[in-house]
Amino acid sequence: MTFQDLNLIEPIQRALTTAGYKKPTPIQAQSIPIALQGRDLLACAQTGTGKTAAFAIPILQLMAGSKPESRSRQARALILAPTRELAIQIGESFDAYGKNLPLRHTVIFGGVSQHAQTRNLQAGIDILVATPGRLLDLMNQGFIKLDKIEFFVLDEADRMLDMGFIHDVKRVIRQLPARRQTLFFSATMPPAVADLANGILTRPEKVAVDPVSSTAERVEQAVYFVEKKQKLGLLIHLLNTEDIPSVLVFTRTKHGANRVVKDLDKKGVRAEAIHGNKSQNARQQALSNFKARRTRVLVATDIAARGIDVEDLTHVINYDLPNIPETYVHRIGRTGRAGASGTAFSFCDQEEQAYLRDIQKLAGQRIPVARNHPFQMEEGQEAMQAMPTATAPRQTANGSGRDPNRPHQNNRSNRNKNRRRPKRSNAVNK
Ligand code: AMP
Repeated sequence: MTFQDLNLIEPIQRALTTAGYKKPTPIQAQSIPIALQGRDLLACAQTGTGKTAAFAIPILQLMAGSKPESRSRQARALILAPTRELAIQIGESFDAYGKNLPLRHTVIFGGVSQHAQTRNLQAGIDILVATPGRLLDLMNQGFIKLDKIEFFVLDEADRMLDMGFIHDVKRVIRQLPARRQTLFFSATMPPAVADLANGILTRPEKVAVDPVSSTAERVEQAVYFVEKKQKLGLLIHLLNTEDIPSVLVFTRTKHGANRVVKDLDKKGVRAEAIHGNKSQNARQQALSNFKARRTRVLVATDIAARGIDVEDLTHVINYDLPNIPETYVHRIGRTGRAGASGTAFSFCDQEEQAYLRDIQKLAGQRIPVARNHPFQMEEGQEAMQAMPTATAPRQTANGSGRDPNRPHQNNRSNRNKNRRRPKRSNAVNK
């Protein structure tokens, strides 16, 4: 399937060519025709599948083809996202796909002064991308009315609920006109998310790609059994011996993230941390340094890393294993985006072996153990304890047949060099 097959209008086709997109991803191929028919959509897809374009493209096309009811230039489309970083990235996508269309969008999120955001709103916009807290705040202050919304997208609904935004989301939804088109995206569909979807969608078409329980196929994985106090030494060893141009390192706590950055700094490795205790500006700065490859190592907590999309991110390292197995899948999904390959290394100390067991159970596969490192724990004992008993051993997580003891054998020539995350710009465009 090509973008031509989707009957996209010329300005959008041209923008996609500029972005370097050759053909639609599976979620785009499935979702765009449904959304273009004006139908509600329930899509099960995680970040990295191309889901943003799956809703942004049809919204742009439908809006370009219809006249607004009023001339007030009040928002006709609302995209609700759980985090500031994700909202900014969605804004960048609208910027890229809509660059040849006379539609304006703005992004609003908390943690920064509202002044620039309200100025943009007052100038008039067509598409509003928002996080729930700041949206409600600006609605309460009278800067935003949602009565002209024709298109509503709830993105990463499961994270929205995880992060405790359910009441805020419901408050926003109550303000939307009943007659609207709703596109609902979630990586997972637990009962609470399905309930929310049932309440806001009208006879939706359902599409699904890449369920979160199937670990990203193209990500080569390895687990390193290591004592807690040796983790830093192992991290430095890997940074020195493996071909790692850029790596997102996950820690469980903000304090842990700061400590890793400080310790790396002492060893002369440039690293920055991104977590909830940092100001929005510091987070954006760290992210843009990392994207521009000025910083090789970005150390993040899970919440801060949600929705982060870094083009050509080659490696993810789980410095601490997450206690929720789905989080592992989300983390390693930061690499291996849109058809590229990537590598995920996980450090596992004695206390984390139960977490590893849960992760392997969810993935239905064993993560190959890396043994060629100087910090190995006592001969394989711990490794054996962590293995799930039900699944047959496989040589590699991606079935590539590579030697699991040499996790750095990563075929980077397979990477899709053409995919591109649209360039950053200010919140209001055109
Ligand atoms: P998303 O899942 O929306 O966060 O997108 C993940 C990444 O895939 C982003 O860097 C997008 O720019 C990129 N992408 C989205 N659609 C395509 C496509 N059809 N071809 C190539 N790259 C894409």
